[in-house]
Amino acid sequence: MLAKEATGTDDISFNGIPKNEIIHQLKDQSIAKWQNQWDSTTKGLGTKQFFPNIKDRLTKKNKLTPNFSAIVSAHGKSKAYLHRYKIIESPDCPCNGGEQTVEHLLYDCIKLQKEENKLISNISNQYMWPVNKSGLVNKHIKHITQFINSIDIERLILLNKLTTVRTILIKVLMYLQNIQISIST
Ligand SMILES: [Zn+2]
Repeated sequence: MLAKEATGTDDISFNGIPKNEIIHQLKDQSIAKWQNQWDSTTKGLGTKQFFPNIKDRLTKKNKLTPNFSAIVSAHGKSKAYLHRYKIIESPDCPCNGGEQTVEHLLYDCIKLQKEENKLISNISNQYMWPVNKSGLVNKHIKHITQFINSIDIERLILLNKLTTVRTILIKVLMYLQNIQISIST
């Protein structure tokens, strides 16, 4: 039974439940449904580690930069990714610390030691390092964004001697990814 109440406002109630409450409940239900799908999908495993909780993600007003999106989604902007798609021959980081994965860039790369030290000193008052990915996003979004924005990922990828053709290919690919990411976020 839908009844418009003569309250002077445009409030509509449904069996006495205020409109705002209905909207709130519907929103909760759709978020819960979305969360179920998110929990069961095998896609976006990289992103899931940063954003296990949909509700948290929706409340983050952080403006995602292309580098941030690339790190979070684990798509592109690491040598491990480019190697997986056979764009470069070796996935190894120029720091000689092993494969250049997202985890490596966040936690292990000695070429990013200065930036990482800053990140740790920014957050270590309350938490022990390493903070896991969802912790970084949920509790330290400002500092992890600062960290990611302060590193030159493209330079880190192109530090190894690559042929001119591969270098151009990677630059074009990253340019396209930046466009794609700015459209999808
Ligand atoms: Zn490294």
